[in-house]
Formats: sequence, C-alpha cells, structure tokens
Amino acid sequence: MKTIVPEVVVAVIGGSAIIGSGFPGALEGVEVIEEDIVYETPFGPSAPFTRASLEGKEFLYVPFHGITDEIRNTEPDSAGERLFYVLMKAGVRKIIGCALCGSTNRLLDPADVVIPDGFVDYTTKRAQSLTRSLRRKGVDVESTMYRLHRPFCPTLSGLLVEGSREAGFPRVFSRGTVGVAEGPRLESPSEIRKRYADEGLDVVTMNLVPEVFFAREIGACYAALELVSNYGEGLVSTEWSGHGAFSEFQERWSRPAAEAILHALREMDVDDESCSCPMYRWRTIIE
Ligand SMILES: [Zn+2]
Repeated sequence: MKTIVPEVVVAVIGGSAIIGSGFPGALEGVEVIEEDIVYETPFGPSAPFTRASLEGKEFLYVPFHGITDEIRNTEPDSAGERLFYVLMKAGVRKIIGCALCGSTNRLLDPADVVIPDGFVDYTTKRAQSLTRSLRRKGVDVESTMYRLHRPFCPTLSGLLVEGSREAGFPRVFSRGTVGVAEGPRLESPSEIRKRYADEGLDVVTMNLVPEVFFAREIGACYAALELVSNYGEGLVSTEWSGHGAFSEFQERWSRPAAEAILHALREMDVDDESCSCPMYRWRTIIE
C-alpha cells in the first residue's frame, strides 16, 4: 500500500459503461505506467488505481467509482471518500466519469448517450462533505463552500459530446438531467413514473453521487458520459431481461464509450479554466 500520491491532474472514474472495454491499457495510444496501486487513506485502503499516459498526458484511473466488494458508497468510510482523498492529494483538476443508466424520458432508447447538465440526488446514505469526513478523521483541511448551479464542466462535457459522436453512438444528447437512485435494486414502474418521468428527469443511474459534488469540493472540473442501457421499468417496453441484455449491450458499446472518454482526454487542455468551474468554490470560515 502506498502513502504518497503522485501529482497527476487528470482522472477517469470508471463505471459500468466501460467495463469490458479494457480501459485504459487495451486502448490505442495509452501507455500504462503502473497498475493495481492501492493508496492509504484516512478511510482505509483505496480501490486499485491505474496510472497511465495518453500521448504524454498522465491520468489516474479507478474502475467502477472506486467501489469494490469491500468498499461501498452506502457505508461509512465510503468509496467516494477514499477515492476523492486520493484525487485531492494528487491535485486532480479534470475528472471524467461514466455510467450506464436507464431511460426515464420516453424519447430515449438504449445506446443513446446523454452528457448531462443537471442532476437530482435521491440517495440517502452517502457522504455529503469530504471536508467534514476528513476532519472527523483528524485531517486538517480548509473549509470550503461551493455552488452547483452548473455542476458539470461545459468544456469537458463538450469534449465528451464530440467523442461520443466520433465513436459511433446513434444519438448523442448534449444536455439532460440525471436522477441518482440509491440502489442497489432497480426501480419499480411506479417509481420510474412518479419520481423520475413525471418530474422531467431524463435518465436514472446509481453512482453519479457523490462524485459530481466531491469534484467541485476539491476544485476540479467534472463531466460524465451516461449511456442508456435499458428503458426505465414500465416506461416503454418490458422486453429486456437482466444479465443477458446487459452483457450483450456492454460487449457492443463499452469500447465506443471508452473511445469517447479517450477523445476527451486527448483533447482537453489541463490548464484551461475558461469554464469557470474552480470559481464556484471558495474558502469559508463556517464549518
Ligand atoms: Zn470546468
């Protein structure tokens, strides 16, 4: 287990959308520097990271939101707290996330990509403040406040839109609102209708929280690729069935999703702050 986190300013938080793609090592142009790196954090050991580089641009990668069999997001010393401690120590300034999601907008179909510009958090058991979590562990960090009026970085989101189009997805939407469910179960038809569809939400997923606001808390830009894998229960069709549907879907689309993320990595300017994301966070004397 390592205690020193190297300075790396870009991170990719993996999710179900790229499981099976071989990200990052199997993709052209990526050089893996080190794999299976477990960092010591005040919350316990992190999930295994990969440190890699794409055309000289270094990035950290962690699979599946930093969640493992032992590390959950819904329990104390959560995946999000461990993951973002590492990203904070690395000095990460640009973060790309991804996930599979269900449609809650009847116009969406499987294999559509939504690059979201909004979210509604329906989770109840997840850490809300990295600063408070760290202080509880005796780590001295400055207090910050932040706004979420534009939670997703417009610049990184634009690169994900471009990358998704180039990767061959049938339809790519450059805006949309994500509902975040606690899980791990999927929703009932009534929940899809009353909680998401009737409220104007476009897709539902489980692991956008806490990463979307922990990114802001550490002063990093964040954008996410949400890949529709199924219709929300009862919304359009009942003719999809569990594991088979998901694995066939992933076999077809995980590689294009990984290519879309690679495009964003390749094209991003790590020093560009014209998006203003870092300005939406400030030091405060109130804890
Ligand atoms: Zn930004």
